[in-house]
Amino acid sequence: MSSERRLATMTAFDHELSSRLALLRAQGLNRELRRIDSAQSPRIVVGGRVFLNFSSNDYLGLANDPALKQAAVAALQRYGAGAGASRLICGSLAPCHELEEVIAQFEGTEAALTFSTGYATGVGTLSALLGKNDIVILDRLVHASLVDGARLSGAKLRVFRHNDLNQLETILRWAAPKIHPPSPKDQAPPHRALIVTESVFSMDGDAAPLREIVELKERYGAWLMVDEAHATGLYGANRRGLAEELGVSDRIDVQMGTLGKALGASGGFISGSRILIDYLVNRARSFIFSTAPVPASAAAAAAAVRFVQSDAGERRRDLLWERVEDLSSSLPAGAGKRRSAILPILVGDEAKAVHAANALRDSAIFIPAIRYPTVARGAARLRLTLTAAHTRLDIAHALSALRALNFELSGLL
Ligand SMILES: *Cc1c(COP(=O)(O)O)cnc(C)c1O
Repeated sequence: MSSERRLATMTAFDHELSSRLALLRAQGLNRELRRIDSAQSPRIVVGGRVFLNFSSNDYLGLANDPALKQAAVAALQRYGAGAGASRLICGSLAPCHELEEVIAQFEGTEAALTFSTGYATGVGTLSALLGKNDIVILDRLVHASLVDGARLSGAKLRVFRHNDLNQLETILRWAAPKIHPPSPKDQAPPHRALIVTESVFSMDGDAAPLREIVELKERYGAWLMVDEAHATGLYGANRRGLAEELGVSDRIDVQMGTLGKALGASGGFISGSRILIDYLVNRARSFIFSTAPVPASAAAAAAAVRFVQSDAGERRRDLLWERVEDLSSSLPAGAGKRRSAILPILVGDEAKAVHAANALRDSAIFIPAIRYPTVARGAARLRLTLTAAHTRLDIAHALSALRALNFELSGLL
């Protein structure tokens, strides 16, 4: 009897959820997982069929690289499959420490701290640094992990139009009189303002004006956090990211990167002063209350950072820019001329974008449709990403499939 009642409740519950899903479908916003039966690489196997893959952030083609796999296997053999608990509870396994040393050396900072994902990095770091007395100022297009961290912190939230320095300055002018350090005299709690931006933006591949943002943050006494998720490994003389390329690394308070994109493994990191790292170990809840990354993942990431720093890493990056040039030289003048591995093709309507992605899949080309809530409503797009592992021929195939769709390739941002 109780099981019958439970069944009835379940049905009502599922009924409710299924009507919510129907609403998403009606808006062209329903999402489904697509199983692939191969490693992430330019060729993936879906339902027994081989597809050309232009969807991953594995920009340097490292996800399936022997150097990473060997490092993962060695760590697995020595340290086992699981991490056991949070690093503060059961001891912190050596591969995480080695990874953090390698990252700090790579970034040229005193220290680094790794998290199990980039998402956990953004959420944990922002909510650790800020409280309700503080102000957090976000570029409108920053990643969900940064938005969620900002909200969770309870800080006053202000948003500026994407890369709009004027609006950022207006907000800073408003915030400046509210910012003050701890005062022994009146015991007033400190109030801080933190600007948060990405360096290369995840969905459009365009870059933030970091030099100008650094100038502004210094002029108004704010802090700055920069998420290099799509730039680590790709920009700068040492491939540290866009901040390095623009010569402003030393003027950014909190530098964030991820290990699952160009670095081909998984996880996220903050690099900065030893004091920042010690503080996060004590205060970042997504670090404290979460089981440590598995040893294989930390070891693979460390191998990736070493690879990126090597001559082979530099050649791999050059190869990526060659492929980007191959693609952009075939596009109408003005379109896709940015040096970016991310090429957004704006479609607008959600259902249309899904239809285009389906049509591309019919030609065995995998380019995902990106829709709300990842991008704004009515700004759906195909997001084509290139990797160093693609060939010229792969790119020619993608171009002819796109042309066959009769796409206005000028829709490329
Ligand atoms: C992907 C991404 C993250 C999250 O990293 P994961 O390791 O995938 O959790 C954070 N910030 C930006 C800008 C990203 O693109």
